[in-house]
Amino acid sequence: MPIIVAVVSLQPILNRMKISDHIKQAKGTLISFEILPPLKGKGIAAIYNHLDPLMEFKPAYINVTYHRSEHIFKKRADGSFEKVVIRKRPGTEAICASIMNRYNVDTVPHLICGGFSVQDTEDALLTLSYLGIDNVLVLRGDAAKNETSFEPEPGGHKYAIDLLKQVINLNNGIYLEEELKGTSCTKFCAGVAGYPEKHFEAPNMNTDLAYLKAKVDAGAEYIITQMFFDNQKYFDFVKRCRDLGITIPIIPGLKPITTKKQLTVIPRTFYVDIPNELANEIIKCKTDEEVAGVGTEWLIAQSKELKKFGVPVLHYYTLGKPSVICNVVKAL
Ligand SMILES: Cc1cc2nc3c(=O)[nH]c(=O)nc-3n(C[C@H](O)[C@H](O)[C@H](O)COP(=O)(O)OP(=O)(O)OC[C@H]3O[C@@H](n4cnc5c(N)ncnc54)[C@H](O)[C@@H]3O)c2cc1C
Repeated sequence: MPIIVAVVSLQPILNRMKISDHIKQAKGTLISFEILPPLKGKGIAAIYNHLDPLMEFKPAYINVTYHRSEHIFKKRADGSFEKVVIRKRPGTEAICASIMNRYNVDTVPHLICGGFSVQDTEDALLTLSYLGIDNVLVLRGDAAKNETSFEPEPGGHKYAIDLLKQVINLNNGIYLEEELKGTSCTKFCAGVAGYPEKHFEAPNMNTDLAYLKAKVDAGAEYIITQMFFDNQKYFDFVKRCRDLGITIPIIPGLKPITTKKQLTVIPRTFYVDIPNELANEIIKCKTDEEVAGVGTEWLIAQSKELKKFGVPVLHYYTLGKPSVICNVVKAL
């Protein structure tokens, strides 16, 4: 009698895919979510509580942001100050691996120039590759909290394109140490950021787009946009990119407004406009609960129009508001 041996896998079988392949194989508009690592002390459960309700919408992948360390000055008992380095939201790479394990979904860690030497970057890329994570969103990162402008780490990259070139080099087996050339190649699919309302440091839109085109020419496979609240800004941006010969997918980044305070915080932090009609509706609200209602309806309308336009993915910045995002995605 033949003996039948059942092979039981201890891990869920994950069919890992590049974001570019997710998009190529999709039959319609995909959904993706972006989350932040929890504040130190909150534990990984905070991430699971945040994601559990969102997973019913079967996101194609989940992005996890990266947060560099910052310097703070702590007052000593004698009145003098001590400079202390703290990192409030560590663990991006490990969180990506945990999410993959728990939900069987692809993850995209954000990788930044700030705080990394090129050696740190190479090690981080190899760690991701060993974890089976083959997607990265390549960014410069913002200035550290106590700096007025972005300062690269000594021996680190100044612009996202320089970091991107290192990622592509490693994909081609080019390591920092010449003698390792060709030993093994990574296979990262790299995305980059784009700004429908211009990056705040760029002197004008044309210059900013020229640098975006350079990132595409260097090997970026898709673009995720900064948030915007007026779809026309996205449509115009896509048109300008296409006119320049940028043919890769341009994924809209979307965020709900849920508090009155955000009317001033969002433009100040992200350099984007809030359309008059939306601002007026929010100003009329008496509570933040009412604001969340207005913000949800606005985002539903935005999402429906973008879907009709044929965007590859609707990418939601979930930022501690999973219930709002659930209501938006349910309505699509
Ligand atoms: C989708 C998305 C996700 C993000 N996630 C994170 C995150 O997880 N962590 C984080 O810290 N920040 C994050 N950010 C913020 C981002 O790091 C900042 O917006 C940063 O200021 C710029 O990053 P970049 O990758 O667009 O930079 P770059 O592409 O390097 O551009 C920065 C500026 O320099 C200009 N420029 C580009 N190349 C050159 C060049 N060769 N010479 C001269 N000028 C040049 C550009 O026009 C632009 O003004 C995110 C932004 C977006 C849109």
